[in-house]
Amino acid sequence: MKRNYVIPFFILHKGCPHQCIFCDQNRITGQRNIHPEEDADTIERYLSTIPSNGVNIEVGFFGGTFTGLAAEAQEGFLRAAYPFIAEGRVRGIRLSTRPDFIDKGGLELLRRYGVVCVELGVQSMSDRVLSVSRRGYTALDVERASRMILKEGFMLGHQIMVGLPSSRPEHEYYTARRARELGASQIRIYPLIVIKGTELAEWWTAKRYEPLKEEDAVERCMRLILYFEAHNVKVIRCGLHPSEGLLNGSDYLAGPFHPSLRQKVESRIFAVMLERLLPNTGITAVLFNPGDEAALFGFQGKNSVLLHKISGPGKAALTRDIEVPRGCLRVTERQGERERVFTLDRKQAAEQTIPELLSP
Ligand code: SF4
Repeated sequence: MKRNYVIPFFILHKGCPHQCIFCDQNRITGQRNIHPEEDADTIERYLSTIPSNGVNIEVGFFGGTFTGLAAEAQEGFLRAAYPFIAEGRVRGIRLSTRPDFIDKGGLELLRRYGVVCVELGVQSMSDRVLSVSRRGYTALDVERASRMILKEGFMLGHQIMVGLPSSRPEHEYYTARRARELGASQIRIYPLIVIKGTELAEWWTAKRYEPLKEEDAVERCMRLILYFEAHNVKVIRCGLHPSEGLLNGSDYLAGPFHPSLRQKVESRIFAVMLERLLPNTGITAVLFNPGDEAALFGFQGKNSVLLHKISGPGKAALTRDIEVPRGCLRVTERQGERERVFTLDRKQAAEQTIPELLSP
């Protein structure tokens, strides 16, 4: 399968009808605004560094409300990228926008210029959560926009958040379920953090908002990822891109920001699989794909205690094996004279952690 590579452009806050309580795109992305005249040079520069084989290359416009821009402004950005699509050097364009800025005429314009995927900044499908965060639209707007995007032939992406004010895990599960039911095929999950200068920062200072602890964010993200995977929906991002201001702390106040958040989630998924093995007493071997070594041992060795309970002198042998599918463990278990070999995969991790979500 070909890898996706997106050449990113940021239209920071452009087209946004207001400032959402948690958002400061300049600080979150660490990028500067672009001008359409620069698009072509930038794309050319990126293309010179991307291997052309085995990669789907797209141009992406993120960081604002693309379809909230005036039509001429949208065309300015799209027109600069379009020749690369016409020449077959770029597969298409993706962009992010708000659910309340989608209409048929606007989608026709996007299609004319080779847009293939529209990512909606959904954040939550709970009207209460949306209203507390003053997002300015309802779940009904998300449903209407999602249906229209698919009907007009685009791929649909949903961007969702965990840890929004007043959002509980049930709201986030419901948001995930609706994303799948509405036909989103690509998901980005962002745990909410408190950025300096935002309204949320004032709420946090006044103790009106308490962000998730990192382990809770990892747990919530893991459940959503397992849910989407169980339904063949791709999670293309989990956690914010690490801008310089977030990394050095100059823009960050509080909340579950970690540049390796996805790795922590992957480690936690292996921890769930290992926990599932603990009651099995006769395990003699555990094989894993070498590509999973970091996740299996856990971020900074976090799973080593669990691993020691299963493998080690007098216990199961832990061995790399390229034949084991990624994300799985192949386990040999002896009970008396009988030996059985079975594979633990992420679906079983999902059954272990989110059985209530997997029922129809
Ligand atoms: S619509 Fe999106 S980009 Fe614009 S302020 Fe709100 S969260 Fe930020």
